Amino acid sequence: MKWLFCGVTPCARQENHKVSTVISKNHAVVVLENLKVGNMTRSAKGTVEAPGRNIRQKSGLNKSILDQGWGLLKQMLEYKLRWSGGMLLLVDPAYTSQTCSVCGHVDAGNRTDQKTFHCLHCGHEAHADVNAAKNILARGLESLPSQSTDELQATAGLAGVACFAA
Ligand SMILES: [Zn+2]
Repeated sequence: MKWLFCGVTPCARQENHKVSTVISKNHAVVVLENLKVGNMTRSAKGTVEAPGRNIRQKSGLNKSILDQGWGLLKQMLEYKLRWSGGMLLLVDPAYTSQTCSVCGHVDAGNRTDQKTFHCLHCGHEAHADVNAAKNILARGLESLPSQSTDELQATAGLAGVACFAA
């Protein structure tokens, strides 16, 4: 089993192509967070009556979502996996970055900084993106019927891909 992650570094279009080709060739199942990129990029603006809060911060966040080309990567994975007979699973992104992949403890305090995950309950330490990718992968596999999970694990690699805006 493998977990891959695409961090905050901007991924160029070509990079997305390379990454999605490699992932779709080597993995039958890829799990992504179901981020609503469109909603997230619009939400900071707010309205005249209710101006968006923390617009400045959110603009930075939005920029990184767009820079990352997350939507593009998702599209490429979708069609490349279709060609190879694999599948793309989208999971609820809630708390994937705050949940311990070892014991399941959920706490905002588990994230000491952007890159570090440190579980306040069991002491598990990992790169924050790797920890979240494991949670995303686990969520994706949970959504499959158990029989197909066994088959997939027997025949091919599985990837949890975590793409983060923050
Ligand atoms: Zn833990």
